[in-house]
Amino acid sequence: MAYTKEVYDLALSEMEKRRTRAEQELEKRREKFYAVCPAAQKSEEEIVKISVAAGRAVLSGSDIREELSSLRDRSLVLQGQLSDMLEKNGFSQNWLEEWYECKLCGDKGYIDGRMCSCMKNLLKKISYDQLNMISPLSLSGFDSFSTSYYSDKPLSPGKRSPREIMTKVENYCRRYAENFSDESNSLIFQGDSGLGKTHLSLAIAQTVIEKGYGVIYVSAPAVFSKIEQEHFSAYSENRGDTERLLTECDLLILDDLGSEFNSKYTASAIYNIINIRILSHRPTIISTNLTIPEIEKQYGSRLVSRVIGMLDRVEFVGTDIRQIKRRERKNNK
Ligand SMILES: [Zn+2]
Repeated sequence: MAYTKEVYDLALSEMEKRRTRAEQELEKRREKFYAVCPAAQKSEEEIVKISVAAGRAVLSGSDIREELSSLRDRSLVLQGQLSDMLEKNGFSQNWLEEWYECKLCGDKGYIDGRMCSCMKNLLKKISYDQLNMISPLSLSGFDSFSTSYYSDKPLSPGKRSPREIMTKVENYCRRYAENFSDESNSLIFQGDSGLGKTHLSLAIAQTVIEKGYGVIYVSAPAVFSKIEQEHFSAYSENRGDTERLLTECDLLILDDLGSEFNSKYTASAIYNIINIRILSHRPTIISTNLTIPEIEKQYGSRLVSRVIGMLDRVEFVGTDIRQIKRRERKNNK
């Protein structure tokens, strides 16, 4: 997968930060150790001197086998002493080593010229973060979700109340997030505005991100205008990049489907992205205020029959809780 130069530069500078951090932390640990065991400093300094001397001997070109072997013996003795001093003073044996985030590449991002998996993950994360930035939404967790805003009066006699239904929906979403894997189903959240679709899908995003998956959360209007721009700009070197990220991430959450500027091009882009994700078993969550007939009218029957029909439907009920919250705030003033 290709990334823009900007993404590469950000990743490389992050790697540099990680290395610097590891070196600075080692320096702090070293000082801590020397403070309780001053003799260790001399031993470490001598080990450094020995390796410099060994380097010089090699460069001298003369027969140095004997010299090298005595230097090595001396160094081993010193290292043994250091290791004893660490143990005696209650420090771990790797106390004087760099603690890199990635042990494979030492936070360089490359091993023998090949990209390390940590660098690949970082590139992915940076491009997801950039895409998530175009939707001005901050993550909100399950803890701030409350069913007390939903009426406990049954919708009709003998039926369940919105609060009962929404408690079930909340529990369903919690389980979905906690058990999220590549095998998870795709979902469609349906219901009017202000019933908590965005809140619960952001809460799922937060939990799934914490589990280490690559999640893209985008509002349909923001992302499809970006895709159109990329597609129709003759000079765009990033053509198709956003579509590819949306297709390849572990979980795609597409908020507010139906409120984007509707064109033939967006309709087919939406179909392609979701269809490819379903075919390759990559979970997607769509939230929309539209009913199924409305989706069909806006995007055609192909999207409904082949794509929307494959998603598990989660219905949101109640009255706009944003209005209730607004009224509460007014009354409290
Ligand atoms: Zn690495």
